[in-house]
Amino acid sequence: MQEYPRYLYRAPFVVQGNGPIIADGAVLTEDGLVVAVGRYAELKDLDAQLEDYEGHVITPPLVNCHAHLELSYLSGLATAGSDSPSPGDMTGWIRSLLAARAENIEQDTVHDAALMALATLYAGGCRGVADIGNRPESSFLAEGFKTEVLFFLEMFGLCGESEESALAALSGFAADVRCTAHAPYSTGARLIQALKKRAGRERSLFPMHVAESAQEIEFLRTGSGPFRDFLLERGVAVDSFTPPGMGAVRYLDSLGVLDAQTLCVHAVHVDEEEISLLAARGGAVCLCPASNRYMGVGTAPVEKMLAQGIPLVLGTDSLASNPQLNLWQEMQVLRQDHPALAPEAVFAMASVNGSRLLGLGGRLGTVAPGVSSSLLAVRCQAKNEGDVLEYLTSTGTDIKLEWLE
Ligand SMILES: [Zn+2]
Repeated sequence: MQEYPRYLYRAPFVVQGNGPIIADGAVLTEDGLVVAVGRYAELKDLDAQLEDYEGHVITPPLVNCHAHLELSYLSGLATAGSDSPSPGDMTGWIRSLLAARAENIEQDTVHDAALMALATLYAGGCRGVADIGNRPESSFLAEGFKTEVLFFLEMFGLCGESEESALAALSGFAADVRCTAHAPYSTGARLIQALKKRAGRERSLFPMHVAESAQEIEFLRTGSGPFRDFLLERGVAVDSFTPPGMGAVRYLDSLGVLDAQTLCVHAVHVDEEEISLLAARGGAVCLCPASNRYMGVGTAPVEKMLAQGIPLVLGTDSLASNPQLNLWQEMQVLRQDHPALAPEAVFAMASVNGSRLLGLGGRLGTVAPGVSSSLLAVRCQAKNEGDVLEYLTSTGTDIKLEWLE
């Protein structure tokens, strides 16, 4: 008797993620891996236990390329009924975030909220997360969870003493701690370059908040505006920071840190030249549509990015700027904001594109021989292939799913 039975999962549709949708499809799994994918008629005679998912579609699991699980205890900032920030007022939101963080919170509360957020992501079909945090111990959050978490320790320090002390701290971290820069308005040029150099040595992804708000671009171009006021308030010696006098993407390129391992998170305020620059360097963009909507910072030029072949992935960002951590919602909001986008492209952003970018592509993100058998059965009454991805990318949190394990 086999310890791990072979299962043949049958469904009216199988979304492969990197190939056409298979009608009356089936997936054969064994020992935690997919062995074969095809039409049920071709696989039905194989020796396996049949699990019939009538009324469902089988899909790859989803991948969240930008989250801050550590901030989950601040969910009150973004729940329905709380005051949302004035549209685009990034510095106002950061002030409320810092005020809330300054309150004396038990570490257990922070930890428990992060675990709850991870469990919520898993319940929503998410199997891989790029998580950004400020506490090294957060790298152990995912122990015992099926969802894989790539943790990045985020650093900042714009100039003067704050940049120097961050640079000193960086040299003390073990090589296997993935470190990254927060944002161009909070992290000085030397620190960004040192962080990127370190990531390059480890061949690690380099995620960074880039061009999220118009306030950020104003600060980078002129050194003035709400960010200057905010940084002064925080005691940053902002007069010793020389504004680069250009947009965020162009600035990162001038520092030599834009390449195929650089993940620009948000990338809302980028101009056409910067989109071409991103494409030329092979840089990827993580869209955070629901967070952007909550913050009122605008929408990223997604169609132009796609037209230039920029790899696009999706992220929820944190519960401090998004009422829900759910990738189906991200797809839905993205399609509402950009009705011309093809559902296939949007689904790829939440699945195969994300898994490839995080280096999980051999195991997650598609339904193909050799990948993990952690797949999703999503309830769906679509009658033809064309309706399947339309449904999956427009239904948001009303999606009902179960895991095939
Ligand atoms: Zn973020």
